[in-house]
Amino acid sequence: ASFGFQEVPKAEKARRVRAVFSSVASKYDLMNDAMSGGLHRLWKDAAAAKLNPQPGELILDVAGGTGDIARRLKKLGDGAAQRRGLEPPEIHVIDINIEMLEAGRAKSKQDGREDGLQWHEGDAEHLPVDDHVADAYIISFGIRNCTDVPAVLREAKRVLKPGGRFYCLEFSRLAIGGLEPVYDFYSFNAIPALGKLLANDPDSYRYLVESIRRFPDQEAFLNMIREAGFARAAYRNMAGGVCALHWGWSV
Ligand code: SAM
Repeated sequence: ASFGFQEVPKAEKARRVRAVFSSVASKYDLMNDAMSGGLHRLWKDAAAAKLNPQPGELILDVAGGTGDIARRLKKLGDGAAQRRGLEPPEIHVIDINIEMLEAGRAKSKQDGREDGLQWHEGDAEHLPVDDHVADAYIISFGIRNCTDVPAVLREAKRVLKPGGRFYCLEFSRLAIGGLEPVYDFYSFNAIPALGKLLANDPDSYRYLVESIRRFPDQEAFLNMIREAGFARAAYRNMAGGVCALHWGWSV
């Protein structure tokens, strides 16, 4: 398949995103480990710790997929609630792809125990959520797949309470000079090869690499968060900018 950077029409982009995640749902965890060398686990741990879920909070894990972030939030939040004898937080996973949600539900039931997460089908650009109800919102490796990023940010702002926290974990731009050739080789050769080897689907993984390259860099995305009306917005690079955690407060 060709690897152009021409604009992808809106409907075509939505269709490709659906196809990618339907095709990868069952192999999603394996692929994440293979492609990041297990690092995605540490990035997600760090993001969940930074969000710092508190007892009784209502928290949204948008584009939450199989619930990797939600499970971490639940564990941290339940721990905090138990220590203080308070209500646990309510964690809601919202995703546009039913197959990812199903894979997540199955994972939660694996050891015969429910983990108390709530699963909903929904679009980050039109959340099925009332205004100003959430204490915290996180979108992890999901926003670059959305067609209209400003709409996602507007929706996050709409559903957050005043004082609510917004977090976004996403692939970003290398901040360490000199490593670009290695990163490029990895992105354009190794990732599609792994996609072929493990999922027999190199095209979906080419699309993932392309979507990473198209997404705005750290500073540009920070500005978008500010423009959406979040206060005290900032970010932290992880793995030298391979990904970044951005955050801001709804006011
Ligand atoms: N947040 C999870 C994680 O960190 O492991 C899943 C990330 S996965 C790379 C991206 C997810 O975004 C997929 O589950 C996909 O279905 C979902 N997605 C893509 N576009 C979406 C949209 N407009 N609204 C909600 N979810 C979307």
